[in-house]
Amino acid sequence: MTRPQHVAVIGAGVIGSSIAAALEASGVEVTVIASDATGTGPVSRASLAWVNARAKTPEYYRQFNADARARWTELALPWFHATGARADGEDFGPDGWVDTAAAIAANLASVSHVRVETVTDTSALREEFDAVVVAAGAGTAALAPGSPRLSTTTGAEGYLVRFAASDAPFDRIVSIKGLQLRPDGEGRVAAQSLTIENRLREEGVTATAENVWPALRAEILAATGWAPPADTAVTINRAHRTHPVDGLPVIGWVGGVYAVVAHSGVTLAPLLADLAARDLLGDEDPRLAPFRP
Ligand SMILES: Cc1cc2nc3c(=O)[nH]c(=O)nc-3n(C[C@H](O)[C@H](O)[C@H](O)COP(=O)(O)OP(=O)(O)OC[C@H]3O[C@@H](n4cnc5c(N)ncnc54)[C@H](O)[C@@H]3O)c2cc1C
Repeated sequence: MTRPQHVAVIGAGVIGSSIAAALEASGVEVTVIASDATGTGPVSRASLAWVNARAKTPEYYRQFNADARARWTELALPWFHATGARADGEDFGPDGWVDTAAAIAANLASVSHVRVETVTDTSALREEFDAVVVAAGAGTAALAPGSPRLSTTTGAEGYLVRFAASDAPFDRIVSIKGLQLRPDGEGRVAAQSLTIENRLREEGVTATAENVWPALRAEILAATGWAPPADTAVTINRAHRTHPVDGLPVIGWVGGVYAVVAHSGVTLAPLLADLAARDLLGDEDPRLAPFRP
């Protein structure tokens, strides 16, 4: 394949926008095509956005996440908050969290063209561009047919609660038995509880601020000894996790497009972007081998 000059990237989330920026930085003219102009759709808003390599198996996948975390550290971008984490009594110094809206905005500002369009079929785009990258999150399965690993890319629905609190007694990510808390900018906290998430799913109930906040506040108090303010304004964002069939990333050519989809997409974004951009330009990294479609 000759070096592509003009590439379409379908998807403006943290993965698509990162790949688009990496390709543009390599001298490719990139057009991002997405249903939403900003990429900050429900998934990035609901994401805890914890950059970590914890509880990942098999080992090559854990190492892939550790390499991606090291890339975040190396880049030292202002939207990566290198706070470290404490998870069930263990410290994870290199961890941090990402302001996904700021990351996506900076990526999109660096590409040549952004087109707002919902794609149902990639055949016309494959005629128009030298290569088409599909990084459409949960929408990837529908646009990149032909791999059993991509028979679905939609996982379980999760949520993230945000609230104002001037006295939160932690300045890093804290995870205690499925309760996860982190700073969310000055005077703000982001939180989720997998216990509450699983209970609501079993009951067939959609998470709302009204049915999550009282239980979440009680769980935070029981786990940390800190009582979040009772009268604070609480917002909640819900989204289905992006999840290939086996839970591992999918990166490579399938059905005439180059598909990139991953569950830990915030953690992996800068590494995926570098490796995918190099791959598209003919420089294949051996770390991609286990993740082919
Ligand atoms: C509750 C929750 C907690 C999470 N916690 C973490 C965490 O702590 N750490 C971590 O690393 N990851 C976490 N994740 C996962 C991470 O947020 C996702 O992997 C990542 O945001 C996915 O980014 P993406 O760019 O692939 O997809 P998305 O952000 O979903 O973006 C998809 C893009 O594709 C576009 N699109 C889709 N279909 C089409 C179409 N047909 N035509 C045109 N455009 C289309 C959309 O408009 C959007 O621009 C979490 C996710 C959830 C839901």
